[in-house]
Amino acid sequence: CEMGNNNSYKFFNPKMESELSSRIKMESLLRAALQRDELSLHYQPFVNTQSQSVVGAEVLIRWHNPILGQVSPVDFIEIAEHSGQIIEIGYFVLRSALKQLAYWREIYNQDFYLAINLSPVQLKDSYLVDKIVNLLELYKIPGHLLEIELTENALIHDAAYAQEVLSKLHRKGIRLSLDDFGTGYSSLSYLQYYPFNSIKIDRSFIHNLETSEQSRQLVNTIIAMANNLQLSLVAEGVENQFQADFVAKQGANIWQGYYLGKPVDANAFAQQYLIPSMT
Ligand code: C2E
Ligand code: CA
Ligand code: CA
Ligand code: CA
Repeated sequence: CEMGNNNSYKFFNPKMESELSSRIKMESLLRAALQRDELSLHYQPFVNTQSQSVVGAEVLIRWHNPILGQVSPVDFIEIAEHSGQIIEIGYFVLRSALKQLAYWREIYNQDFYLAINLSPVQLKDSYLVDKIVNLLELYKIPGHLLEIELTENALIHDAAYAQEVLSKLHRKGIRLSLDDFGTGYSSLSYLQYYPFNSIKIDRSFIHNLETSEQSRQLVNTIIAMANNLQLSLVAEGVENQFQADFVAKQGANIWQGYYLGKPVDANAFAQQYLIPSMT
């Protein structure tokens, strides 16, 4: 039988066998993907609710395989975490995104920042902080222009160690954001225990704003709480004018979503959202 990553073992069955073999296939395709340049990054704009301008972007990985076609990160990140490949993939994301940011900083507005998703497995990499700090130095990027997005499940396993790593990043000026807020278990205690700068309301709450009074109340409450705690608040998954207006009026700082734009590659992003400086 196979050991799950939660250490609970399951009895062998035919379905598992096919899951296991497709997992192994995916792992070897992923290994090749890294070598063959099949991974790339897309960028989705963050809109400041006050200025209405694009102030940053979330970095989202993309995988195009010649046989499988476009593979969603939802499908391959978990496999990469299980196999440990996420360490290398995560480093690829950090390196490529910060290199891109350095290039954009030469040409476009100064304070633009990037938010990068970090897997819980990456948090356990004892070189993580050094890797990030070295990349920031290499590309001459101030810490506050990098935001790291973590989900609650990143913080469950070894709270004391996670706190140590996050505090180190925080001391370097790197911003920390609690992703998918409201969908996990003990979000509120996390806010007390870790040095977060911002929270992202999960898009499931935003999705129901027009139809559900309860969602509106929940979103209001979360925004008010973030304001009281002096945390920046990002509303994700904004798809229309109603949702954009609602979160802006309630005091969210940033929104992100298909209403302004889907994630796009670096060239399209620069063309659509970055304004060349006058020099
Ligand atoms: P996430 O971090 O919650 O990212 C937001 C997801 O919502 C993205 O899906 C984005 O394309 C999508 N989204 C943004 N605006 C809207 C909207 O208005 N409507 C709807 N329906 N969706 C919207 P994507 O790119 O498929 O990524 C899925 C997940 O994969 C991410 O969820 C994140 O957990 C993971 N992921 C993506 N890139 C990376 C990465 O570089 N590293 C790690 N560790 N995970 C990543
Ligand atoms: Ca995210
Ligand atoms: Ca999210
Ligand atoms: Ca999510």
